[in-house]
Amino acid sequence: MSADNNAPTNFIRQIIDADLQSGKHERIHTRFPPEPNGYLHIGHAKSIVLNFGIADDYPGTCNLRFDDTNPAKEEEEFVEAIKDDVRWLGYDWDELRFASDYFEQLYGFAVELIERGSAFVCDLTAEQVREYRGTLKEPGRESPYRDRPVDENLDLFKRMRAGEFADGSRTLRARIDMASPNINMRDPTLYRIRHGLIHHQTGDEWCIYPMYDYTHPISDALEDITHSLCTLEFEDHRPLYDWVLDNITIPCHPRQIEFSRLNLEYTVMSKRRLTQLVQEQRVSGWDDPRMPTIAGLRRRGYTPAAIRDFCEAIGVTKSEGTVEMGVLENSIRGDLDATAPRRMAVLDPLRLVITNFPGDREETLAAANHPKDDALGSRELQLTREVYIDRADFREQANKKFKRLVLGGEVRLRNAYVIRCDEAVKDADGEVVELRCTYDPDTLGQNPEGRKVRGVIHWVSATRGVSAEVRVYDRLFRSPEPGRDGDFLDDLNPDSLRVLGDCYVEPALADAAVGDRFQFEREGYFCIDPVDSRRDALVFNRIVSLRDSWGKQAAG
Ligand code: ATP
Ligand code: MG
Repeated sequence: MSADNNAPTNFIRQIIDADLQSGKHERIHTRFPPEPNGYLHIGHAKSIVLNFGIADDYPGTCNLRFDDTNPAKEEEEFVEAIKDDVRWLGYDWDELRFASDYFEQLYGFAVELIERGSAFVCDLTAEQVREYRGTLKEPGRESPYRDRPVDENLDLFKRMRAGEFADGSRTLRARIDMASPNINMRDPTLYRIRHGLIHHQTGDEWCIYPMYDYTHPISDALEDITHSLCTLEFEDHRPLYDWVLDNITIPCHPRQIEFSRLNLEYTVMSKRRLTQLVQEQRVSGWDDPRMPTIAGLRRRGYTPAAIRDFCEAIGVTKSEGTVEMGVLENSIRGDLDATAPRRMAVLDPLRLVITNFPGDREETLAAANHPKDDALGSRELQLTREVYIDRADFREQANKKFKRLVLGGEVRLRNAYVIRCDEAVKDADGEVVELRCTYDPDTLGQNPEGRKVRGVIHWVSATRGVSAEVRVYDRLFRSPEPGRDGDFLDDLNPDSLRVLGDCYVEPALADAAVGDRFQFEREGYFCIDPVDSRRDALVFNRIVSLRDSWGKQAAG
């Protein structure tokens, strides 16, 4: 049995195919194991798509397991947010587990290790442990407590659990090899004492907590995971993963396979840094639309399908690299170009009066919702004497490359008539405040004969249009690799958010609902901001700009 032939393959799927063919496994079990110490980001999406995608395609199962062994940094809020994000991405777990579900079993296996002479209680301080550990060039030194008798170890470990000893005074360590070239194998810590913490699952039941490297292989094995997929920094931990399972009585031995992390340009992905952005209020929260978090991308207007496509497109390999932001942006553009209804919105309004159009008249015009997909239907627009156009669509004078309105020139108002600009009214400072134009009633759906129309510009009726705030996002950082030359916060882009408070959108947008996505013609793709938008005070987010080619086409 192998996965659906259409599924994109990668070296991990090839290993799985071989394991199924050889009969090593009949079904595939994977897991996604986040630590609930922050929100998920786009890098986690790569791991989610990989793990859940494999379970969906083979078929098999995938667990969502919270790796919750460090209560100092973990919170219930993050547990719930992670569950929401995984579901929103379109996946459902087979079982929901917590590493803390296994605390009692983990304790039992530690006792087994002690009984076998493979673990000991060590009284060295953290600093001494570091000192004894040695370096890449020099072997470490054995702890003076390494040869403690088994009974003494059992007694001390039991009393560690009972809370008799202070934080940091003792640890349980594996007894492996202080001369190993792999530092992870130099008698690594398995348990440490942490008093006074309230764990979101286990409360104050425990005052000793197992380390990640000890917990992870056992949790995998207890869940019958067949392939434990993780990022490359765990490659050096694999010998320890295997050692733990080889030294306890447990029937299952999952195979750990490492792949490279996703790195994206112009953003940061470590939870420590993302937490700092939130705590120092450099962004509005974990779901700030500029954040690379799933919650941020969702609020920004990304679709689950676009994120999944992106993860498939970047592939799964062992080579480290950084992906351009444009690749992520293209995933959502591709999705929305095909599906998003077209609308008109003026982000920087300039009043335009059509002087030969009576003030009491409204002309209803039909406008297609999508130029290439009639199935998306059409809507009505009302042309009125006064409309708004974008300030950037007018210049008093410009050469022929400027495909917009100039004094004395003609353009078409999108979905409506050709107009000519007769006069630019200025205020005392010389700034243009109003354009006075005339329209040609013979130009609906047809071009005038013998006259050159420069281009097509969008507009919104001044009387029928609805005012709105539009938030235009740019990269959160101005450097492709924030923090490379110092503090990453110094690389924040001061212009990553532009709030345009005085926009006008066509009336059809007044009923836009959360989750609707639109192309504002010539501007980009936009959605309702799910947090701040109100029926009577609309707020739109720019999801992504239009293709760069449009920028070139429209300029000049
Ligand atoms: P961070 O360093 O941001 O805190 P983490 O690796 O500690 O991330 P976890 O919650 O432990 O975060 O990650 C859960 C799973 O997601 C792990 O299997 C991890 O390898 C994977 N993962 C995390 N970041 C990335 C990334 N950038 N690309 C691919 N997978 C990732
Ligand atoms: Mg981690």
